[in-house]
Amino acid sequence: MTNTQDEVMQFIKEQDVRFVRLVFCDIFGHMKNISISEDELPRAFASGISFDASAVKGFLQIDESDLFLFPDPSTLAVLPWRPSQGRVVRFFCSIMRPDGTPFEGDGRSLLQSKVREAALDGFKMGIGPECEFYLFKTDEEGMPTMKPLDNGGYLDVAPLDKGENVRREICLTLQQMGFYTERSHHETGPGQNEVDFKYGSALEAADNFVTFKSVVKTIADRSGLFASFMPKPLVGESGSGLHINLSLSRDGIMDKRFEEAMTAGILRRIREITLFLNPMVNSYERLGAFEAPRYVGWGKANRSLLIRVPESSGEYRRIEVRSPDPSCNPYLAFSLLIVSALEGVKENLKMPLEDSGDAYQKKDGTTLPSTLAEAMELAENSSFVRSVIPERLLTYFLEAKKADWKAYEESSDKTQESRKPFFL
Ligand code: GLU
Ligand code: MG
Ligand code: MG
Repeated sequence: MTNTQDEVMQFIKEQDVRFVRLVFCDIFGHMKNISISEDELPRAFASGISFDASAVKGFLQIDESDLFLFPDPSTLAVLPWRPSQGRVVRFFCSIMRPDGTPFEGDGRSLLQSKVREAALDGFKMGIGPECEFYLFKTDEEGMPTMKPLDNGGYLDVAPLDKGENVRREICLTLQQMGFYTERSHHETGPGQNEVDFKYGSALEAADNFVTFKSVVKTIADRSGLFASFMPKPLVGESGSGLHINLSLSRDGIMDKRFEEAMTAGILRRIREITLFLNPMVNSYERLGAFEAPRYVGWGKANRSLLIRVPESSGEYRRIEVRSPDPSCNPYLAFSLLIVSALEGVKENLKMPLEDSGDAYQKKDGTTLPSTLAEAMELAENSSFVRSVIPERLLTYFLEAKKADWKAYEESSDKTQESRKPFFL
């Protein structure tokens, strides 16, 4: 991977690059970008490229609107679907205020700081997301419909599975961008698919997830389809989760006790942080059915539970957190999971007893919040959340979520209103 500014400039010259996309995310994890010409890049590295932050939801007010993007040279990737002559590359960026201080609405720098803090104690977290999504047909005008691409189910093959070419194209495109996927398959729902990432560092995994969504959407669009990352697009069908596999090493060594303590740490904080793992009204329609968890518990192979600690060995030792969904901002979600998990390790927390049986049949026990409103209240009153998420970001995030909830509460067609993240 190319990573110094000089190497980047050489690559730009040799590979006939004409356009450079400067990528960042808003506080909800939605990708944004500005395109500059390749000869502007040295200036971008040296003094940043400004944009109007008051026009990005959740960033700044109108009277203090300028922020600057500084490209991270280690994130150079060619966009393979753009022309091969006069190529287009992209960089993820850090967002700075005019005085050179980091902008507190930048989830990416928040995650970087959590990774750095962990590294001070020798800890390194590996993250491997598994992302589910739906492919829908489009109408004559190219607009998305709610008709799934096929009627296939879990691990089905063609011709029941009509997504095989799209998945192939997605994986090959990502590979050309230096991002490896481990496996892919048709999921349980009609038109539902899954792609699992190879684990990487927390920052890589978060950047990759943002890249992944844009690649899936682009490839689907080029195939006349529409990809939706909405947590529960179809009533009565499987929802789309974003399972997050976490592994931890200290000074390069993995230890079985870490898995226990990480699990305990996350179970302790899960209710407070759920707002950031499941940020949509629609997110709560997914939880509690079709292998999406509702109870706060863990098991080795039980997919109705929140955390799975699978039997695995060597570098594949991990725990799998099953509640998050693909509408989350990965930078905020990973920051909160890392801090919860490391708290567990530092305090040497013990796991509760393993849950057994089908958790959907359970009558008692601690549950995840069951609505966005409940999740908001838990987050707003959580000193833990306040210790991780910068105050201003939290305020804007809560404001936006309260508005979503109000719109839902006041809407006469709740099913329709909760389907707004269809376009995410
Ligand atoms: N689709 C399920 C969910 O919403 C997960 C199925 C699986 O275990 O892969 O979390
Ligand atoms: Mg799955
Ligand atoms: Mg999984």
